[in-house]
Amino acid sequence: MDIRLTPEDQALKERARGFTDAVLLPLERECEERDGLSPESLAAARRSVLDAGFNAINHTSADGGQGFDTFQQILVEEEWGRATGALWDVPWRPSIPLAVGTDEQKERYLRPACRGERRDAYAVTEEGAGSDPTMVRTTARRDGSGWVIEGEKWHVTAGDVADFFLVHAHVDGDPTRSTVFLVDKDLPGVELVRTPKYMHTFVFEHPIFAFRDVRVGDGEVLGEVGQGFELTKDWFVEERIMIGARTMGAATRAIDLSLAFASERRQFGSPIVDFQAVEFMLADMAANVAAAKALLYRVGWQAARGEISRKELHALASAVKLVCSETAGRVADAAVQIHGGRGYMREQPVERLWRELRVDRIWEGTSEIQRSVIGNELRKRGHGSFTDWPS
Ligand SMILES: Cc1cc2nc3c(=O)[nH]c(=O)nc-3n(C[C@H](O)[C@H](O)[C@H](O)COP(=O)(O)OP(=O)(O)OC[C@H]3O[C@@H](n4cnc5c(N)ncnc54)[C@H](O)[C@@H]3O)c2cc1C
Repeated sequence: MDIRLTPEDQALKERARGFTDAVLLPLERECEERDGLSPESLAAARRSVLDAGFNAINHTSADGGQGFDTFQQILVEEEWGRATGALWDVPWRPSIPLAVGTDEQKERYLRPACRGERRDAYAVTEEGAGSDPTMVRTTARRDGSGWVIEGEKWHVTAGDVADFFLVHAHVDGDPTRSTVFLVDKDLPGVELVRTPKYMHTFVFEHPIFAFRDVRVGDGEVLGEVGQGFELTKDWFVEERIMIGARTMGAATRAIDLSLAFASERRQFGSPIVDFQAVEFMLADMAANVAAAKALLYRVGWQAARGEISRKELHALASAVKLVCSETAGRVADAAVQIHGGRGYMREQPVERLWRELRVDRIWEGTSEIQRSVIGNELRKRGHGSFTDWPS
């Protein structure tokens, strides 16, 4: 068994670290203070994404992406995850279900999105439908040769900068006919309802949008009618693994900052790192990140090799998200504690990490939902996916 990074992967990781240090971290202060970036800063950062070749890391080079496998994406997203303000979302990664589009759909949506000329946002959640997407009330009904979409979507991440949506709707209100529609934001009937404020600082917004009798054609059905749940699940699986990656980057930064602070900060005549209470917090932080990251890399490696069933990957992605996001939450909490009063100041990255990591236990399926997915796998196929080492 050889678990070392290849020289190419090591070089990619270093390139992503360099990008984070040079492009994302210098924007943190502005993002925190103005709750987002100025149009000039965002435009400059987006140019840097293209210059660095970090646009659409999750899509094939044939579609204008970077063609990185899951493991390579993890290496990159882990480095980006060190940045606060969700600046990791500046480098766009068009939603993975767009890859099943027809050539015509790819020309209109995916390829311009990979180039950074368009941006998507994925709209599943509603006021009454969160953990249980079968409760979605957004409907699509046949009208002549097209479709009429009616409904309202909540928490649409990056909906402010997106120019089209992937809307998860039920044909004729039937959950067994869930379907993803490509909906341009400038179509008549697409309306911004409001833009709520959230706990974290996020470079973009998560608005609520209404779709009032929005008309689209058959050309805007992504995949097939009835395939919506499977496509949305593919999106969840990819995003859950990437949440694992970003939370590990964030947790590692929290350790770096805490170790540096504890070595420098003196009380009672000694650096506080010399107090065992502080040293033990740091020890738990490092040991727990080592464990969570080992799971993340192992699952990323399995996914990249492709020798894993969809069902198994679904279950393992839930384990990754659960373990990494909960570990990172505990690490950030300890980091705030180690920083004392300074840890409560927004100008300190540990404060922002603490606030921003909270959502990773909620979005793309709460920790409870991840446990349900894992429990389901245990009941159906036993614990082998989790406890056996891949051969
Ligand atoms: C900042 C932010 C950005 C988001 N971005 C997007 C986006 O871009 N697109 C999108 O579609 N959605 C997005 N979401 C929505 C997110 O995925 C949902 O909030 C999440 O899935 C939980 O759904 P809910 O909020 O309706 O909570 P609920 O489903 O109402 O859950 C409430 C509580 O009940 C628990 N619970 C529910 N069912 C069960 C169960 N069966 N067993 C045990 N416990 C259960 C939950 O774990 C939770 O603790 C975003 C949310 C946030 C906060």
